Amino acid sequence: LVQLQKVTYAFGSTVVISDLDLDLVEGEIVCLLGPSGSGKSTILRIIAGLAKPTSGRVLYRGRAFEGVNPGTAIVFQTFALYPWLTVLENVGLGIQAGPSRRSIALKAIDTIGLDGYIDAYPRELSGGMRQRVGFARALAVQPEVLCMDEPFSALDVLTAENLRSELLRLWQGGEIPTRSIFVVTHGIEEAVSIADRVIVLQRDPGRVQAILPIAIPHPRDKRSPEFQTLVD
Ligand code: ATP
Ligand code: MG
Repeated sequence: LVQLQKVTYAFGSTVVISDLDLDLVEGEIVCLLGPSGSGKSTILRIIAGLAKPTSGRVLYRGRAFEGVNPGTAIVFQTFALYPWLTVLENVGLGIQAGPSRRSIALKAIDTIGLDGYIDAYPRELSGGMRQRVGFARALAVQPEVLCMDEPFSALDVLTAENLRSELLRLWQGGEIPTRSIFVVTHGIEEAVSIADRVIVLQRDPGRVQAILPIAIPHPRDKRSPEFQTLVD
């Protein structure tokens, strides 16, 4: 879906990403791990088109694009909500203006379990609810690739776990149109529990250290009837 080809990214003379190749494939969850400053957020921003590589190419469905990547949406660590806008208005931000904007926003709000809060302001919500708004806003644009930058790290463990399993449930049940999820995280356990592939960056000079296919039974396997029988 999204391909990075020989991507290098530098601030002045500091090389942050060096010669990176990365393919996000339909149907997979990819987690990106690495020490602070290794370039995780930068890679996510490049995938989403918020940052342009110094050299190399970024393709969405085989094509280069101008501006932001039309196939992606981002969930941020610190939610990035506008405090002066209501839940409905925050979620509506990325949706193209038009007669169906409101209904699209309402559907995303409903999907993520925020109905009843559409007129609330972010300050009236708990952290977990705020991040639900972040999710709803991202999902409302129906991204094929959902990019998340440490989406759970500002939440307490229980809230994080709830939101994570909620997202997995929606993904497994096909209730969101997303075809691939790219997650930056510090949590190795989180990565192993949800990812199909874990990419580990090394700090210097922003190269991939390892790519680990995850072979353990995946939560998504619950979809298979055999597994479901076992669970029941
Ligand atoms: P963290 O785990 O702390 O979020 P990260 O892996 O997401 O770290 P990035 O935010 O991608 O790392 O930053 C990679 C490198 O780029 C760091 O060395 C950082 O200092 C540098 N960097 C990031 N933004 C800028 C900027 N606006 N100007 C100059 N250097 C920057
Ligand atoms: Mg970061």
